[in-house]
Amino acid sequence: MDQEFQTDVAIIGAGPAGLFAVFQCGMAGLKAHVIDSLDQIGGQCTALYPEKPIYDIPAEPSILAGELIEQLEAQASPFGPVYHLGQQVVKINGQEGAFTLTTSKNTLIAAKAIIIAGGAGAFGPNRPPLENIETYEGTSIFYAVRNRNGFSGKKIMIAGGGDSAVDWAISLADIAQQIYVVHRRDKFRASAASLEKLHELAATGKVEIITPAQLEKLDGENGILTSITIADLDGNTQSRDVDILLPFFGLATELGPIAEWGLVLDHHQIKTDQGTAQTSVTGIYAVGDMAIYPHKLRLILTGFAEAAQAAHHILTRRNPDKAQHFEYSTTKGIPSNS
Ligand SMILES: Cc1cc2nc3c(=O)[nH]c(=O)nc-3n(C[C@H](O)[C@H](O)[C@H](O)COP(=O)(O)OP(=O)(O)OC[C@H]3O[C@@H](n4cnc5c(N)ncnc54)[C@H](O)[C@@H]3O)c2cc1C
Repeated sequence: MDQEFQTDVAIIGAGPAGLFAVFQCGMAGLKAHVIDSLDQIGGQCTALYPEKPIYDIPAEPSILAGELIEQLEAQASPFGPVYHLGQQVVKINGQEGAFTLTTSKNTLIAAKAIIIAGGAGAFGPNRPPLENIETYEGTSIFYAVRNRNGFSGKKIMIAGGGDSAVDWAISLADIAQQIYVVHRRDKFRASAASLEKLHELAATGKVEIITPAQLEKLDGENGILTSITIADLDGNTQSRDVDILLPFFGLATELGPIAEWGLVLDHHQIKTDQGTAQTSVTGIYAVGDMAIYPHKLRLILTGFAEAAQAAHHILTRRNPDKAQHFEYSTTKGIPSNS
């Protein structure tokens, strides 16, 4: 059955910009519902690099991406956001003050304003074209490392030639029984320092680099991998006993339905007014990686500031005749969460 909700602001995307938008809306007295196509909050930070340290978050000299998301969630929680995860917003109807969003699970959300914090668009991993791959996903095949210690003592095959593949091969070599790195070219696209480290580990036998080669076939039972066949460019095959496969072939991102909502776009981003974060449609805002204006910096901290601008502008538009007295959080405080 369809579910229907009503809120002040619907936020599309639960990445760092969307989560901070919940806080900023809350401070402006606006309730928020947040929708994300992924089944967890955090956007790129959780899906792609939860255990990597970020160094350019103000007042946090170093914070793991996953930890940043936990903090943002905690900061937003006094305002009681409602999360609708594992569903994509596919349609928007209406106008400022009376929008309706429809999701891929037929959830209907009526909202007075919309903040699109959709990052690079609804995204998912680029999957290698292997038969029955879906039966191993989440048990033996992972597109991101969420719990490094869960791979302790395992035989791990990492596929890909970029930073993620090389960095995780190095990081997991400490705890894995064996690491295989499979890449279809001899050359990797990772930093020189990381490559040097990878070759040092290969010299010890802890890591085996197999190039040029690609994944050919998965073997196992009940979602548990036992071995993987790989093939060179001439089709010659060999196999390795493997418990875990980590394919790092990047993200498939697509604007998807967002491209059909009548917003003025610049390539795959939504044009916004830099002062208010409003898009070409009154009442619809865009923040974070999805928003574009001259000299835009695609950084988490930029998204935070844009979220504040959007929330303040929504408040101003809701009460056009009332002078808005800007108040610092130190003056205003936050609601008690208990
Ligand atoms: C490896 C790596 C390292 C990085 N390091 C840094 C760093 O050190 N410092 C820094 O500032 N930045 C860094 N970044 C960039 C940073 O992660 C992004 O700038 C940030 O995640 C953007 O946040 P966002 O909230 O705008 O979007 P995202 O984090 O991309 O989240 C957007 C969310 O919106 C969802 N979505 C999109 N469309 C829909 C839809 N129609 N319906 C429902 N959900 C939808 C997506 O599923 C996604 O979860 C790094 C990025 C990567 C990949």
